[in-house]
Amino acid sequence: MTQNIPIVENIMNANDRLAEENRARINAAGVFAINIMASPGAGKTSLIEQTLPRLKGKLRVATIDGDIATSIDSDRAAAAGAQAAVQINTGGDCHLDAVMLRGALEQLDLTQFDLLIVENVGNLVCPAGFKLGTHKSVLIASVPEGDDKPYKYPGMYRGVDALVINKVDLLPYINFRMDYFKQGVEVLNPGVTTFETSCRTGDGLDAWVDWLIQNAKRK
Ligand code: MG
Ligand code: ZN
Repeated sequence: MTQNIPIVENIMNANDRLAEENRARINAAGVFAINIMASPGAGKTSLIEQTLPRLKGKLRVATIDGDIATSIDSDRAAAAGAQAAVQINTGGDCHLDAVMLRGALEQLDLTQFDLLIVENVGNLVCPAGFKLGTHKSVLIASVPEGDDKPYKYPGMYRGVDALVINKVDLLPYINFRMDYFKQGVEVLNPGVTTFETSCRTGDGLDAWVDWLIQNAKRK
């Protein structure tokens, strides 16, 4: 096993270099870029769908959707008002990497946008290990997934810049101990910016949208 470690390190270094190139390209265009990660079904596409109409007239938004096989999510983003929606079909890969993002960036005139939303493949493990070149990583955790997820997937919770706790409208029906969940998060990522949202009722979405606008204005 030990002889494989240098190979893995080389792959990660190559990815990091490409991520830096992506970052330079995004910065040169003055765009604020986020990488949204979550398990399947946590509400990545639903959050994007609810976010886009709230940004109408405020930010010009492009989305890049990573998906194993279909274009359902980028179609939804386009229908919700994304000025451009690019699909990355990963061909079975369970995460996006910097090469895939570069390919998608090449399909966009980045100078036409203020915000780039990248929707990663639904997966709570390896997306955390691959930098893309975006400015902020956002993790969506949803109430039905359970309150133990920070304890089970520390790598994902440790590295993110913002946490969206989604589907809070389901709290009355599910045994989700918010205190226990947040204690787990606090150990891994003290003081992380956190939003509690429901894409069904709209609760909490204004604060999330404000965060995007404030960050985009700084670019
Ligand atoms: Mg999706
Ligand atoms: Zn993967």
